[in-house]
Amino acid sequence: MKLHTKIAIGLVAGAAAGGGANAFFGDAAWVSWISDNVAYPVGQVFLRMLFMTVVPIVFTSIALGVAGIGDVKTLGRLGGRTMMYFGLSTLIAATIGLFLVNSIRPGDGLPPETRDELMAQFSGGADGLAASGPTEFGVSTFVNIVPRNPVTAAADTDMLALIFFSLIFGVALTLIPREKAQPVIDVLEGIGDAIIKIIDMAMGLAPYGVFGLIFVITSQFGWSILGQLGMYVLVVLLGLFLHASFGISGLVAFFGRISPARFWKAVTAPIITAFSTSSSMATLPTSISTAEKELDVQPKVAGFVLPLGATMNMNGTSLFEGVTVLFLAQVFGVDLSMGQQITVIALAVITAIGAAGVPGGSLPLMMLIMASVGVPPEGIAIVLGVDRILDMARTTLNVCGDISASVYVDRVDREMEALEPAAVPTGAD
Ligand code: ASP
Repeated sequence: MKLHTKIAIGLVAGAAAGGGANAFFGDAAWVSWISDNVAYPVGQVFLRMLFMTVVPIVFTSIALGVAGIGDVKTLGRLGGRTMMYFGLSTLIAATIGLFLVNSIRPGDGLPPETRDELMAQFSGGADGLAASGPTEFGVSTFVNIVPRNPVTAAADTDMLALIFFSLIFGVALTLIPREKAQPVIDVLEGIGDAIIKIIDMAMGLAPYGVFGLIFVITSQFGWSILGQLGMYVLVVLLGLFLHASFGISGLVAFFGRISPARFWKAVTAPIITAFSTSSSMATLPTSISTAEKELDVQPKVAGFVLPLGATMNMNGTSLFEGVTVLFLAQVFGVDLSMGQQITVIALAVITAIGAAGVPGGSLPLMMLIMASVGVPPEGIAIVLGVDRILDMARTTLNVCGDISASVYVDRVDREMEALEPAAVPTGAD
């Protein structure tokens, strides 16, 4: 049986068992005993398995992404534009999400008592996640991005500081002699692969973890919360659809200068692959061959932009993260100011860079965003059961965003080469 079928069964069985226990046995002591001593620990082990991957995955994927650009000249020539496009497309996606979740408000409508109980239930257990409380942007936010001590930043899961250190470390690797950098890069690659394996193992626990997590919620709160969950799924899917129709299509026309119709027709194979694997990484070979064969992107550009995009550029993921965090804030009744919502969007854009392009790769990072604005990270349990379908959809957009970036960088590269054929270096390594 496929893993996602098992996860879906875990969700339905957990909701049925928990909701049933709540409906028929209400406050019976044995229900809460099972919830506390069986369902809760199983769910927690699953969540912690995911969470322990955050620091190493962010460090390795970002440092390797930057170091992979190779030399500083190429970094300047292709890297700047690639990053600009990644940043812009991800920001557009996250903004669409912010707009939708604020206008539709899928998390509203729970009775206030349920809301308070949910908050009380979830806010205690987030040990290990820096309960830094709500943050707002200010001068100190920017100063604090530069850590005094990278180890402390990692230990406190201070994401921005960790990402900053990882970026600088990656740049430094391109500046020291190749023979010194290479062994470090090899080690980082090994660590990165091992961590992805751990995420894989954690996902193997997902059917049981999801059963446990959803049981804990429904046994206490009944089925009422599932209606909100349905709305939330619709909002994420609507957001992704809008970003594809307007965001990516617009960017392809404006920056790539090709017709959106041509683009969408060309990317059918990566769409199918991404949708069925939920992994940008697994889709990478298909994306590269599609970009080269169907969209005429030069191999050196495709080979540079697409691997980087598979780790760093996640349009769908940032939209998803923004919507999910704000949805859960609505569910828990946490009022987020505009400044805090902007923090969520900025963190969604940034953590989308650090997320691994594997199924569920963004989930550990999303818990960090939640913690940083005062939404209990354990509340992720509420959405985990429906994550598979959302993962399929957001990964599809992640991959389409990457391919659209390669179309743009390819056009610029060709134009620059045509302008100064002799002066320009040959590009990717
Ligand atoms: N599954 C996504 C990808 O591979 C990452 C995520 O959002 O979980 O692109």
